[in-house]
Amino acid sequence: MTIGRKFVVDDAELILANEWFSAVAAMSPDKEGISRPAYSSKETEVLEFLAEQARNAGLSVSYDAAQNAVFSLPEDADAEKYILVGSHVDTVPMGGNFDGLAGVLAGLLCLFRAKASNTHFPRPVKVIAMRGEESAWFGPCYIASKALMGVLSDAELESPHKGDGRPLAEHMADVGIEMAPILASTPLLNKDDLLEYIELHIEQGPLLIGKDMPAAVVSAIRGNFRHKTVRCIGEAGHSGAVPRAFRKDPVLAMADLLSRLDESWLTILQKGDDLVLTSGIVSTDPAKHAMSRIPDEIGFSLDVRSQSQDVLDAMTDLISGEMADIALERQVEFRLDDVIATAPALMDDGVVNNLEAAMARIGLEPTTMASGGGHDAAVFANAGVPTAMIFVRNQNGSHNPNEAMETEDFLAGASIIYDHLVGASQ
Ligand SMILES: [Zn+2]
Repeated sequence: MTIGRKFVVDDAELILANEWFSAVAAMSPDKEGISRPAYSSKETEVLEFLAEQARNAGLSVSYDAAQNAVFSLPEDADAEKYILVGSHVDTVPMGGNFDGLAGVLAGLLCLFRAKASNTHFPRPVKVIAMRGEESAWFGPCYIASKALMGVLSDAELESPHKGDGRPLAEHMADVGIEMAPILASTPLLNKDDLLEYIELHIEQGPLLIGKDMPAAVVSAIRGNFRHKTVRCIGEAGHSGAVPRAFRKDPVLAMADLLSRLDESWLTILQKGDDLVLTSGIVSTDPAKHAMSRIPDEIGFSLDVRSQSQDVLDAMTDLISGEMADIALERQVEFRLDDVIATAPALMDDGVVNNLEAAMARIGLEPTTMASGGGHDAAVFANAGVPTAMIFVRNQNGSHNPNEAMETEDFLAGASIIYDHLVGASQ
């Protein structure tokens, strides 16, 4: 089968990749879609499955200090400096099978291909299957890569699990991680040992589908800041009895805030800057709310992302300014919880160029695009590791059961990385 311009899919690899994806999906079904919680036994089970596959193929397997699985050709197992290829194996609750897993399997496939053809990488290569990346379980994102780089904060380590309320640090200890160095912010990996970090990921937007292209190289990753719960506090009252002038309605105050932010968003886009803004959780207290009651409080989330740190900083100021105005006008109070932030990440020009050259060599049209979602790659890039990503075409976005990546497109993406790893480009 041929996709792109002339990239040819290897049938044996197609079968192998499909078997891997199906086997891992079968380990982690939920009522709907797939659930692989961060720092859970389910995650451990997936790592063990991958380790068994790798060992059977004659690859080296080890676990790093954060209990991520690391694979390599035997000759590269002790390499001091190496290219790291990988992604995460956890998913959001009732998510899809491909977000994260595709990047791990792409790396593994490169090792399988090299081993089977007795190919040696000019620069050593290690593949990492990381644990917790998704913020859905504890709040913080990129947990494994932050732990590796020594930048997991105390507040993040104390953040409670959405199910059992126990802190992240306890869940990490439960899967066998020695927590002392992580608590002391000691990097578990020396970033200078990483020649490059490369991550394949499904695209979470519709761009590649629109362009009818199987894959692209990512040139930048949006940074973000988030508030899990912003509380707007007003005053309860009877919906029929309290005149407008006497109301302290937190719902209307929140509506004001969001529509003002939406207007500013449009202005920022018109200036040519990058921004996305979402309130994915909005709720009055179901124990108290009623159709005929002016609520005393509403809670909502804020998720703000941009490729530009200046835009993110401007948004932080804008949000607090608008909140102060609205609080005065509507006699309410906004209370923000602690901010969770990740800086925007620029990909390394050299690695991006080399991956584009690899695309051309395997018969794909070289293309670059920006990443809307954040990834472990952002953590490595912001630590100073030369980093790049490959996006693979995917229907229906991610973080939902309907993620739909064609395995042929996955093989095209993995082959870009493989060609780069074995290629002349340094
Ligand atoms: Zn992901």
